[in-house]
Amino acid sequence: MQIICVGRNYAEHAKELNNPVPDAPVIFMKSDSSLVTGNVPISFPSFTDDLHFECELVFRLAKGGFDWTEEEAAAAVDGIGIGIDLTARDIQSVLKAKGLPWTLAKSFRNGAPVSEFRPVSEFPDWANIRFRCEINGETRQNGHSADMIFSVPYLLSYVSKFIAWQPGDLFFSGTPAGVGKIHPGDRITAWLETEQLLDFHVG
Ligand code: ZN
Repeated sequence: MQIICVGRNYAEHAKELNNPVPDAPVIFMKSDSSLVTGNVPISFPSFTDDLHFECELVFRLAKGGFDWTEEEAAAAVDGIGIGIDLTARDIQSVLKAKGLPWTLAKSFRNGAPVSEFRPVSEFPDWANIRFRCEINGETRQNGHSADMIFSVPYLLSYVSKFIAWQPGDLFFSGTPAGVGKIHPGDRITAWLETEQLLDFHVG
């Protein structure tokens, strides 16, 4: 199972981290040991003092393949859920400044809490999906897929020119503005449209 992600897919988020708005997708991966499901608590990682939450729409693929058109890519998706792309921002900043890969900042154990998935048939318009994240009961991110720079079918197709998708793979579609620091003991909750799908503690 692969977890493939896009960075800087919302202009306001790119700006808040002082990154240029990209003219081509920024793609990275998280290891399959980063996946956590079932809202289980996560222990705070030992290697970071600046753990950030990034709440994202996650698309699950039912089929594998490569060199897809956007239509083929969209047809391969069977579920949509919510995930948190946990990021060791201090480690990422050092790697970014040196032009090095972000792997250790993104791909660590338990770094990808993901909700249950809802059938893709419940989402007739992928450009009109709202999601939201609260930390300790306070809304911190309000996302709307209309604000994505690159559409999900475009991104799935783009990735498929390089990497072969496999059945069950997950795609993290980028985070809106409002990312921030998590402290030990924090509770993270997140909603897909009006349904609360994530509720777990860190620390
Ligand atoms: Zn992210």
